[in-house]
Amino acid sequence: MRRETYNEFRRLCQEHNLAATHQREKIYEALVSRPGHYSPEEIYEQVKQDLPSISLATVYKNLKTFLHAGMLREVSPHHGSWRIDANRHPHHHLVCTHCRSITDLDFDSLGPVKLHGKLPSGFRLEKFTIEAQGICKACTAAETKQH
Ligand SMILES: [Zn+2]
Ligand SMILES: [Zn+2]
Repeated sequence: MRRETYNEFRRLCQEHNLAATHQREKIYEALVSRPGHYSPEEIYEQVKQDLPSISLATVYKNLKTFLHAGMLREVSPHHGSWRIDANRHPHHHLVCTHCRSITDLDFDSLGPVKLHGKLPSGFRLEKFTIEAQGICKACTAAETKQH
């Protein structure tokens, strides 16, 4: 693991009151070493290369712990499968309606989002996340080829 990643992992665990175990370290590393939005199964495949005895259930459990602690976030759950976002910085998502690929959109590329009118009573707003849908580059290229 890169020293920087390791230090970040230690700092995050401390900040969120989690024990910095070796398993968690490997799971965290698998996530942040390649930017993307991964399913627990994909993370498991990656972690298994370093820790052959780890189980999918353990990976699930630790990912849930990361999410509950606020160390990581999950991608909007409307896409069927559970995906964890390796990008911890605030950002929006571009979702391809065709292949379901997810691309990060810089937070600054949208203006401030404002709410007009009142929230339903009792709803405590925490943040806005924008999900823009469209057709990704690869799908557009494939479509053009077909015609
Ligand atoms: Zn696509
Ligand atoms: Zn993302």
